[in-house]
Amino acid sequence: MTPPPGDMDPESFRRHGHRVVDWLAEYLASPAQYPVLAQVSPGDVAAKLPSNAPENGESFDAIFADFQRIIVPGLTHWNHPGFFAYFAITASGPGILAEMLAAGLNVQAMLWRTSPAATELEEVALGWLRDLMGLPASFDGVIYDTASVSTLHALAAARHGALPDVRNRGVSGAPRIYCTEHTHSSIDKAVLTLGLGLQSIRRVPVDTGLAMQPHALDAAIAEDLAAGLTPLAVVSTVGTTSSTAIDDVAAIADVCERRGVWLHVDAAYAGPMAIVPEYRHILAGAARADSLVVNPHKWLFTPFDLSALYCRRMDVLRAAFSLVPEYLQTPESGRVRNLMDTGVQLGRRFRALKLWMVLRYFGAEGIRERLLEHCRLARMFAGWVDADPAFERAADVPFSVVCFRHVRPGASDEAIDALNAQLLDEVNASGEVFLSHTRLHGRYTLRLAVGNLRTTERHVARAWELLRGGAARLSA
Ligand code: PLP
Repeated sequence: MTPPPGDMDPESFRRHGHRVVDWLAEYLASPAQYPVLAQVSPGDVAAKLPSNAPENGESFDAIFADFQRIIVPGLTHWNHPGFFAYFAITASGPGILAEMLAAGLNVQAMLWRTSPAATELEEVALGWLRDLMGLPASFDGVIYDTASVSTLHALAAARHGALPDVRNRGVSGAPRIYCTEHTHSSIDKAVLTLGLGLQSIRRVPVDTGLAMQPHALDAAIAEDLAAGLTPLAVVSTVGTTSSTAIDDVAAIADVCERRGVWLHVDAAYAGPMAIVPEYRHILAGAARADSLVVNPHKWLFTPFDLSALYCRRMDVLRAAFSLVPEYLQTPESGRVRNLMDTGVQLGRRFRALKLWMVLRYFGAEGIRERLLEHCRLARMFAGWVDADPAFERAADVPFSVVCFRHVRPGASDEAIDALNAQLLDEVNASGEVFLSHTRLHGRYTLRLAVGNLRTTERHVARAWELLRGGAARLSA
């Protein structure tokens, strides 16, 4: 009798599973065997793949062989110790193992009853992280995929708070969102998605350290109120994307409280640093915010993706989104947390498992030690930049990111910008390191971001060697 068509049999799963884990262990032992930035051109990977799905199933051996032959060379390796671009991240061992378990279990935590443990572990793990960062228990947490989506939900809650009839009638009046030119573009996207219109964004001037000026914020809100506009939310940032500048959240909270405006804190990158007592002050005043986002998938060694939104007014967030059709009614409703009530999506991945395992495996002390080491490496690199007349630093280094540029006396700003873009291309083409750039004060600026657990002094030194060598060649 032929067996009914089913899944891969358990023995094959075990055999292939061991092979995959062996491959991953090897990969994590030496990701630097690959160029960090994929050395492929657009279309190269797709051209190696058939244009149709196979009619008949293939062996896992054949599929895995193609994964190694076609897919891996077409990847940019975020777990590479020479990855210094954007915000460097780490898929740590405990986080990867948790992801495997979550994939194997495939639970979907839309309702408490569809996965009680996933729902409750999310509350517990987020409570641990909140306490570690020194935030009060008045903050309730929820996990989303990314900071962009966390912020979208925070601003939706703010919109609901300011325009209580928005669920029925849509957006009315002239809402305003306050941020700066250094606020992450996810705020613009949230504004687009929420139908507020990009013209509702008002950019508040920044000080020389690129942080929002609280007095200018207050004046902007006063002016808008006088003009009949509706201040809806202020977005302040602790660790801006370009330069990791820190807004004065306490002073901004004063303004928001006085004016009755929702305060959202974007601590997506730098938030975990508040776990370190000497850095706790970066979140001073955040206890008075209405919502705050922090991304364990950025600088807390948790594999992508996991973003935590903390909200002091979760009732408003729920009121903005809760909608329960008959087929999702449950007997426990009203007594339990149903995660589907806290946002757009119905289905929920079991992301809390990886945060829980990461926090337990490293422990608070282990996390502090690693974060401080990343800051030390960044300061070391900044010291080399400062000591070399061929380079200049473009911003302070409060955390693990250094903004800098190659300089050439007598050359115009435009020429120096072009030179730095060339230097970046050259250094990235080495395959040994990958840096990215931004613009600060209108000037092209290189960024070196430390954040991977495999990055050591040796890798930072190699980046510096490549930069100095490249700069010398370009000057010759
Ligand atoms: N906020 C800040 C300060 C960021 O730097 C970023 C991304 O780098 C984001 C938000 C968006 O993060 P995500 O990719 O999780 O949406």
